[in-house]
Amino acid sequence: MPSNSYDVVVIGAGTGGYVAAIRAAQLGLTVAVVEKQKALGGTCLIWGCIPTKALLEHAHALKVVQNAKEWGVVIPEGMPAINMSQVHSRKDKIVSGLTKGVEFLFKKNKITWIKGTAKLTGSGTITIVDGETQTVEAKEIIVATGSSPRSVSGIEIDHKRIITSDEAIHLPQVPKSLIVMGSGAVGVEFASIYRRFGSEVTIVELLPRLVPVEDEAVSAELEKSFRKQGIKCLTGTKVTKATAGASGVELEAQGSDGKTQKLSAEILLVATGRGPVTTGLNAEGVGLALDRGYIKVDEFYRTSVPHISALGDVITLGPRPHPQLAHVSSMEGILVAERLAGQEVRPLNYDHVPGCTYCDPEIGSVGLTEAEAKRRGYDVRIGSFPFGVLGRAKMAGETEGFVKIVADRKYDEVLGVHMIGPRSTELVAEAVLALRLECTVEELIKTIHAHPTFSEAVGEAAHATHGAAIHA
Ligand SMILES: Cc1cc2nc3c(=O)[nH]c(=O)nc-3n(C[C@H](O)[C@H](O)[C@H](O)COP(=O)(O)OP(=O)(O)OC[C@H]3O[C@@H](n4cnc5c(N)ncnc54)[C@H](O)[C@@H]3O)c2cc1C
Repeated sequence: MPSNSYDVVVIGAGTGGYVAAIRAAQLGLTVAVVEKQKALGGTCLIWGCIPTKALLEHAHALKVVQNAKEWGVVIPEGMPAINMSQVHSRKDKIVSGLTKGVEFLFKKNKITWIKGTAKLTGSGTITIVDGETQTVEAKEIIVATGSSPRSVSGIEIDHKRIITSDEAIHLPQVPKSLIVMGSGAVGVEFASIYRRFGSEVTIVELLPRLVPVEDEAVSAELEKSFRKQGIKCLTGTKVTKATAGASGVELEAQGSDGKTQKLSAEILLVATGRGPVTTGLNAEGVGLALDRGYIKVDEFYRTSVPHISALGDVITLGPRPHPQLAHVSSMEGILVAERLAGQEVRPLNYDHVPGCTYCDPEIGSVGLTEAEAKRRGYDVRIGSFPFGVLGRAKMAGETEGFVKIVADRKYDEVLGVHMIGPRSTELVAEAVLALRLECTVEELIKTIHAHPTFSEAVGEAAHATHGAAIHA
């Protein structure tokens, strides 16, 4: 095989692309990855999951210090404060450690990293148009070009006063005031971070509740907690105008009653979602079918062009929104690599995708919400258990929230688990396995949960679904 010819060429080294590349190489295929950034890892490692969760850990550290008195920790005179340059240097060290880790894995698996921007020039050829310019041949191409922040019409992002998450992870100073537009995972995580760091935070959400994809009970609990923390929540409210000035942003927002109010803040963070990245890729030129810019794929991530697959944030699978999550893109990457290596693969079940939101309090959920289960015609049974009565939660001083189970009355099958409260993003793993194994509520009850742990809340919620929790 000529040196610029590979079994598989992956475009984009995000969590979808780099994982697909590693798996394909593990299975004996020759692999190259084209990535235009200076580091590997894509949105998740450079601008997304990793830097935001690092900032949230800083916010959590500050929360513990602020409550030092309760913990019996003596702090010398003065209010604890956050030092942003130390925050950023720690966060950046974590990010660069992880991106270099991916580089190491590429070397270990003999994957070639071609530095530059890829353009599709045929079903088996790719031209690198900047960086290490060349044309490479591939038996199979995987497009994993991901997504980037997008605004809504009429709101122009200037990257200084009106910013996206890409800038929010690098703010050199804590803004006095911050308006967050959109209350999905990205919006509420930044609201938590900057409120804890000391900003006056307002969330403006178009839909009637925060985190609208979550179970309604979770949304209500989050709003209650955010209000307690001093985060102003304007739900059912649309930002109609935003004008950036030298010292801040002036906004107009319209409530569901039609009334307009004026808002102002030092910074407006637009967190209204992300759009697909296909600019310069020549996707349509080679015949890829697109839907609103997303690449259309089937359940095995085959595009409309033979020998070109696509996965991750850049794809659409049909009418149902495709979850833009790192773990989803990675699972899709593994599936595509195994298919290309000739292994038998089965479609992913998107009802079993866990959603983790690392705001304070954390949210972890998987499966059907109560409303969705009812919409699908299930005779639904619900059980809920509050963290507030759990010994382990009391010890940690983290007593907000609950675990809620949605089950089918007829077969006792667990259809969904929704939790908000301490360690929910970890606790959800048990629920994901329960759904994967088509577990009944009875089986969750019979599962021994260690004491004293947060996970007891899952066992107790299962008891509650059958009519009686032991400790509530
Ligand atoms: C603030 C924030 C927080 C998030 N937190 C979480 C979280 O906690 N958990 C979670 O699961 N998900 C989270 N996400 C979402 C997650 O980051 C994405 O779903 C995931 O990164 C998608 O992976 P991907 O491989 O599809 O694309 P991406 O990670 O976007 O990678 C695409 C790569 O392709 C490269 N590329 C694009 N076009 C070309 C080209 N023509 N040539 C060469 N290279 C190209 C880009 O430079 C990029 O590196 C978060 C996202 C954001 C923005």
